[in-house]
Amino acid sequence: MATRKIICAFLGHVDHGKTSLQDRIRKSAVVSGEAGAITQRIAASIIPIETIKKICGPLFKALGETTIPGILLIDTPGHASFTNLRKRGGSLADIAVVVVDINEGFKPQTLEALEILKTNKVPFIIAANKIDLISGWTYNEEKSSIENINALSQNTSANFDKKMYELVGKLHELGFQSERFDRVSNYTQEIALVPTSAETGQGIPELLLVITGLAQKFLEAKLEIETEGYAKGTILEVKEEKGLGTTLDVIVYSGQLKVNDTIVVGTANEPVVTKIRALLEPGEKPDSFQQVKEVSAATSVKISAPNLSEAFAGMPIRSCHAAETQSVIEDIRQEVESVMIETDQEGVIIKADALGSLEALISLLKEKNIPIASANIGNVTKKDIAKAESLAEVDKKYAVVLGFNIKTLPEVEEYAKSKNIRIIANDVIYSVLDNYVKFSEELKKKEEEDSLAGLIKPCKIAVLRGYVFRQSNPAILGVSIEVGSIKTGTPIMNKEGKRITFVKEIKEGTENLTVAEQGKELAVSLDGVTVGRQVNEGDTLYSDIPENDFKKFKEIKEHLSPQEIQVLKEVAEIKRKSNPLWGLG
Ligand code: GDP
Repeated sequence: MATRKIICAFLGHVDHGKTSLQDRIRKSAVVSGEAGAITQRIAASIIPIETIKKICGPLFKALGETTIPGILLIDTPGHASFTNLRKRGGSLADIAVVVVDINEGFKPQTLEALEILKTNKVPFIIAANKIDLISGWTYNEEKSSIENINALSQNTSANFDKKMYELVGKLHELGFQSERFDRVSNYTQEIALVPTSAETGQGIPELLLVITGLAQKFLEAKLEIETEGYAKGTILEVKEEKGLGTTLDVIVYSGQLKVNDTIVVGTANEPVVTKIRALLEPGEKPDSFQQVKEVSAATSVKISAPNLSEAFAGMPIRSCHAAETQSVIEDIRQEVESVMIETDQEGVIIKADALGSLEALISLLKEKNIPIASANIGNVTKKDIAKAESLAEVDKKYAVVLGFNIKTLPEVEEYAKSKNIRIIANDVIYSVLDNYVKFSEELKKKEEEDSLAGLIKPCKIAVLRGYVFRQSNPAILGVSIEVGSIKTGTPIMNKEGKRITFVKEIKEGTENLTVAEQGKELAVSLDGVTVGRQVNEGDTLYSDIPENDFKKFKEIKEHLSPQEIQVLKEVAEIKRKSNPLWGLG
């Protein structure tokens, strides 16, 4: 057993400085001296603890004894690559750095990053970056970041405090306690905010110090691993390389990987068994590789082997003794199946580009109680559309395919349109969810409006005095629509709740109308009534709302105006005089 390196990843909104901060960390490592200060890996860099010590200088003493051998810094920042940094039951990342431009504050992808970290239970710190852009900022690299901050002019300092406080406030709103790193009293309860500048390098030593300190204190047990024996890893990227064909960029988090090892690789279908042809590390020149015989955890490496074309990012990979292949295949199959849930239940169909992104989308939908009928890797196909079509027969809110980080061919898009299936795809996972929520809300509204259209709406009518155009057969009266509206065919009752007739015709001047809206004064003709008997000048009439329609209106009240709701109440009161239970239950 040994303590492995801390696996650390950077997340945050685009352009807030993830790449620049990592570059700056690497640069600091190189500047700190001796060879081996930093090792460029596939998709990652290793910063040994000795280098961190040098970068941190006297600050490092605050940590006390350290057993952690260094940091494996994942080089490909981005939320999709973070979600693929997965293993069964959690994330491979031990710690994440959420980068926030202090001048811009929280943005959609910052929130997305925090949600992803919360879901995956990954501890994180915040790099409050681009402090050098705060007006009046000064920096003396001979001094620590805090000494520099203390030496700021009053104005600049006040401005900086305000911006920091805004970040703390926003985090508080999201349910996180946070504090500037030098004031944190309990790292398990408070998120540390480290002011940084990728431009000047201010805060880089402090950032490394907090990462190392946090891991040493709280994650040491998690970092205990086997550095020998068969390897376990996760595919971070699948890449075509010239002369090598399909290769896998893999994070090895346990054990050793050797050339000629038998490996089992997860795919969207059956796990693939193959043999390692070559293990590759970055070469001297950019985009060149050098071969190595073996690697030990925790590290990253490029694997070249036959039959890798079906592999995906986020998939598990294991090496094993040839005799154990079957049980490893079974393990991997179970793990992949446990993510790609397939149920007969009704629900939405979801697609994603990789196992990690699929898993992230699934957990997000589950959190929001959105049922999933099937989840799979790959672009949307006509088969998915056909399946959505049959699900939509059960419930129209399943007339969708949700996609995260995928592309849709124009012909599939066309096909979906022809079948009335909506493809909701986006590279930001929360947009997928938001757009689906919008879609189902629109649908609900439309359904309510449709059912509303078939109901007898509440309406209150005053029979005007002096406007009887005809006594009977049919009676033609001038009326004022006080509340609501009537249509031709609307049943009419009097104030006692007795149905007297239906609206036969509506006339405004010489024009025949089908609907009479609130506020109008016009003429209606009524069959089977005689003025002076069933109806009199000055009477108040109502639409005669059937009991079932009344109950439906109670469910979708938001579609009625307050006056219409009042009329609904009046109608119920009238009806309840003869039937106390009318409209109840
Ligand atoms: P990413 O999209 O989060 O990886 O952001 P980048 O690292 O690509 O940075 C976006 C832009 O901000 C680039 O032009 C960087 O030079 C600039 N930048 C990043 N960090 C800082 C910083 O601390 N100070 C200043 N002044 N510019 C920065």
